[in-house]
Amino acid sequence: MSECAHCGIEDDRSGGIVVGKPQEGDDTTCNVCLADWLSQNTVLSRRESEVAALKLIGYKHETIAELMQSFHGEEKPTKSTVDEYSRRMKDKLEKSVATVNALEKFL
Ligand SMILES: [Zn+2]
Repeated sequence: MSECAHCGIEDDRSGGIVVGKPQEGDDTTCNVCLADWLSQNTVLSRRESEVAALKLIGYKHETIAELMQSFHGEEKPTKSTVDEYSRRMKDKLEKSVATVNALEKFL
């Protein structure tokens, strides 16, 4: 079993915590540390960052909903809420790319 390179935690699916690698060669990270990083360093909201972290580690929307429910101890989010967060992230991604393209000559 692998542990998070940042906080040392191990997989605890019943507590909504999973450990994995976003990409080949990346540090092993838990979804909580990755969500913290995304929330602080990207335009994503806190909840969007939680969804993004689990997507990056390789989970599908249905499992993401289950893990987030376990983590927060609530009935939400449902899969359709995770779908909605995912749509909002895609929108932010497209706007971010458009911003870079529009302002590229000033960078
Ligand atoms: Zn961690």
